Amino acid sequence: MSTFKAPKGTYDLLPPDSARYLAVREAIAAPLRGSGYGYIETPGFESVELFARGVGESTDIVTKEMYAFETKGGDRLALRPEGTASVLRAALEANLHKAGNLPVKLWYSGSYYRYERPQKGRYRHFSQVGAEAIGAEDPALDAELIILADQAYRSLGLRNFRILLNSLGDKECRPVYRAALQDFLRGLDLDEDTLRRAEINPLRVLDDKRESVQKQLTGAPLLRDHLCDACKAYHEEVRELVTAAGVVFEDDPRLVRGLDYYTRTTFEFVHDGLGSQSAVGGGGRYDGLSEMIGGPALPSVGWALGVDRTVLALEAEGVELELPAATSVFAVPLGDEARRVLFAKVTELRKNGVAADFAYGGKGLKAAMKAANRSGARYALILGERDIEEGVIQLKDLESGEQTAVGVNEVVAELESRLG
Ligand code: AMP
Repeated sequence: MSTFKAPKGTYDLLPPDSARYLAVREAIAAPLRGSGYGYIETPGFESVELFARGVGESTDIVTKEMYAFETKGGDRLALRPEGTASVLRAALEANLHKAGNLPVKLWYSGSYYRYERPQKGRYRHFSQVGAEAIGAEDPALDAELIILADQAYRSLGLRNFRILLNSLGDKECRPVYRAALQDFLRGLDLDEDTLRRAEINPLRVLDDKRESVQKQLTGAPLLRDHLCDACKAYHEEVRELVTAAGVVFEDDPRLVRGLDYYTRTTFEFVHDGLGSQSAVGGGGRYDGLSEMIGGPALPSVGWALGVDRTVLALEAEGVELELPAATSVFAVPLGDEARRVLFAKVTELRKNGVAADFAYGGKGLKAAMKAANRSGARYALILGERDIEEGVIQLKDLESGEQTAVGVNEVVAELESRLG
């Protein structure tokens, strides 16, 4: 062991577990790729100001959780705590919204950083796959994203997740509701911090997890009862489209989420096997965000699903992913001449798309066969001196134990046919 350990709140992804993370990322990306979303990658850090304006000056993410630093050149940067602001910034910078059809549909996958108190399911470095549809106000687009996330989770075999859905209203009706909620909150017995939050961003008080606060919120006014006609109609259509797709959701009039940019549709995916960190993903519509970061009006909607928590959810449900074997064929050479012959065979197999590995380091037969078994390969190729003389390679089925001699020049074709 070295003297160094992974920093607090982080962990390393190591084989074989890491294969599940890759599979989860792939499963989330697949429905997006098949629905017109193009892949985007943005830097791991951005100007602090982008997140302050984009995510919200008063949010926990910006005030407490951001890894912000000053560069030697005097720039104020932050490791990205979420993806949406960066993706929108990049789309605006490249004028993607002017290039062709709206919405601009993008998906991404990457690392995010939040200085949070670490616990199971909550890390300081975590990974998300996300999707954003920029520049269109259409309830079908909100529905599409909810349906695609549902499809992604189901394709992984997840069952015990729920979709919570709400509308946060728009710039017409939210301010009226905000004032009503503020009036209500001012009459409660709240600590100073919470009262201050009630003045700056009262909706986020609804998200307070403490029981002492939740108890007092029982009679709080609900946004649902304050939605303007346009928001009501929009929300109703989202609900209908999602329902028609056979996707089940729950109306959650208290759902607000921790980022300020959301308008209208908001949703969260929660998994019941995860304890307190139950949100596996979330998203919603953010019609005002573009203008907040200096762009034109571009109504948009998106989500981000947490890869770490999705893996935990799979574990909680006992779902075993069907992962392709990392190695199909393992070559065991006995002697120098055999090394050269088998190494060439391994290279040829790989070129033909067969996953193959080799007993490196001059191992003896016993250690090499152990390595072959450990690799998970279905077949071993064993080559000794007598085999070379006879022009054959021993092909051993590691599942049945059956071994046959195959001509040196036939072995690649034989393996390809056996592996289908
Ligand atoms: P948010 O942007 O906070 O809604 O996050 C979207 C998703 O990312 C969440 O539902 C989680 O699955 C995941 N996530 C957010 N923060 C963390 C964290 N600190 N550790 C692990 N996953 C996280």
